[in-house]
Amino acid sequence: MDGAAVLTIDLDAVIANYRLLQGRLGRVAAAGVVKADAYGLGADKVAPALAAAGCGIFIVAQLTEAIRLREGLPQGQIVVLEGLFAETAPAYRQHRLLPVLNDLGQLDAWRLSGGGPALLHVDTGMSRLGLPEREVDILAEDPSRLARVDLLYVMSHLVSAELSDAELNRLQLGRFRRTLQRLPTAPASFANSSGIFLGPDYHFDLARPGAALYGLAPVEGAANPMRSTVKLEAPILQIREVPRGASVGYREGFRARRPTRIGTIGVGYADGYLRSLANRGLGYIGGRSVPLVGRISMDLVTIDLTGFSEGEARSGTMVELIGEHLPPDALAELAGTNGYEILTSLGPRYRRRYIGGAP
Ligand SMILES: *Cc1c(COP(=O)(O)O)cnc(C)c1O
Repeated sequence: MDGAAVLTIDLDAVIANYRLLQGRLGRVAAAGVVKADAYGLGADKVAPALAAAGCGIFIVAQLTEAIRLREGLPQGQIVVLEGLFAETAPAYRQHRLLPVLNDLGQLDAWRLSGGGPALLHVDTGMSRLGLPEREVDILAEDPSRLARVDLLYVMSHLVSAELSDAELNRLQLGRFRRTLQRLPTAPASFANSSGIFLGPDYHFDLARPGAALYGLAPVEGAANPMRSTVKLEAPILQIREVPRGASVGYREGFRARRPTRIGTIGVGYADGYLRSLANRGLGYIGGRSVPLVGRISMDLVTIDLTGFSEGEARSGTMVELIGEHLPPDALAELAGTNGYEILTSLGPRYRRRYIGGAP
């Protein structure tokens, strides 16, 4: 062995999560959102596993992600959220990718370049991408702008779906329904992971889960029904006894109030172990928690092993940093962020081990 941290990614758990969501959706299809390298888990492994489990539609944010994904995924629809730039239309056709059309200019560009299958995004409250209401008005009065465009789905995106009683959920639902009535009939897509748990009113024809596939909790304040998909473990590189009063790490981020056993681990902010975890992070050794002390360095963190015997913790002993005892959502809370940021930050230096994946 060496000092590298090991990231274990459980593709069987991803598939189980896909099936759980599909079970809640009944006959409504679930796409697999695999943007940002499948939220850090590895789109080249996750997408084929989902495809083998029956998923036929994949969603990424960027055209470059889609082109890379297509190389390992000859079958299946691939949707690109970023929107169409006129000069990229040939690339969409060459790689059989589906653009999300985010404004009337993009709709016109797609039609004028030959049209074909695409999604249309209408904004119902996010104020980022998608047709604003004014453009929906124009399109409703002149549906000929959709000529030659095969509308696979009209989609919109929820602002606060993880808050099950947010008033905005119902407001957006109402706006989306009214918009659909004004446009030519087409299938619709509304719910992300959390939206699936808002109930059948929010399901329409296609759900777009990402986070829940990877084990993040879909409903804030409720028990998490999803299976956890990642485990991060790293070996202790070195242990030293520091006397009372000694400081540990940069800028004296921790000062020993008593003789202290300090263990050093080869994970740092360059690996996505966030600096905000200074003196807040936790690890687990044999199911027992061990506090991180001091600052997070680029490549190292330090833990307080006082209370662990030499038999329980020595150089080479593995420390669990994410896993059963500390899922990504819990680590996120300690870091002052969300589970999405924890997963998408998972570092390129981790040694990755994939388990499962055959349906
Ligand atoms: C990222 C994204 C999703 C997936 O959201 P989750 O909360 O991860 O399930 C769905 N739709 C759009 C438009 C997105 O950008």
